[in-house]
Amino acid sequence: MSSTNYKSRNQPPNNRQLLILLGIFAGFTIGIIWLIGWIASSIVWLIPPSLEQQLGLVIVPIFESQAKPSAAQNTLNELLDRLEAQLPPQQRQNRDYKVLYIPEDTVNALAIPGDRIIIYAGLVKRAQSENELMMVLGHELGHFANRDHLRSLGRAVVVQIAIAYFVGDIGTIGSIAVSGVESLSNAQFSQSQESQADEVGLTLLQQAYGHVAGATDFFARMSKQALDIDFLATHPAPARRVKEIQQLIKQRNYKVDQKLPLPPTLP
Ligand SMILES: [Zn+2]
Repeated sequence: MSSTNYKSRNQPPNNRQLLILLGIFAGFTIGIIWLIGWIASSIVWLIPPSLEQQLGLVIVPIFESQAKPSAAQNTLNELLDRLEAQLPPQQRQNRDYKVLYIPEDTVNALAIPGDRIIIYAGLVKRAQSENELMMVLGHELGHFANRDHLRSLGRAVVVQIAIAYFVGDIGTIGSIAVSGVESLSNAQFSQSQESQADEVGLTLLQQAYGHVAGATDFFARMSKQALDIDFLATHPAPARRVKEIQQLIKQRNYKVDQKLPLPPTLP
């Protein structure tokens, strides 16, 4: 006769039951995390340009204090204007994209709420043609088109901003937004976010020049760099991206013509 016959109903749960409970709890937790992620990534599409401008009012000055009005910044803005003119009308409406050029050796570029693209001198110095720099700018415009600039504030911050906005608690939005500034500079995008931004960049490059020379140059160079470059942390998997861009160029039958040198006003 086995001992199980004497089991009482009030016996503590055995290992198997504990494992099941643990599994249910883990599943529930993963579900909640997934749900918050899904809400945050869907809610960014509901944030209107007017709210973005409000976020910009508190976020942009933080970066502006490090930027320097300069010939280089003006040139980068002229380049950006040429790409912006190629955006579909619905992406240009109520927008005024501008570059903030920060004269630091950091190799990075980022899109932030308030229609600003932050470009560090370290990135410009590593570019070798106007075309590849245009591709980087176009890629950042792609992050705006896909609303990644809002997602990079962090899920919790995005959800809090949206709640404050929809319940009319406008006064707290500024301080919530500031709490997301740190994650803006450290945002790590997924490969699919990067691919989508590349696609926008490539399309804009083709429209601006009538060909796509230089489209992969910057990312190809980055893929051969040491891993501690900020650009690689925020924009991962450059080698894979180069391949994907090349495939897209083939599929769309884009021409590859002469590249232009960098404008002399750039460092
Ligand atoms: Zn990117």
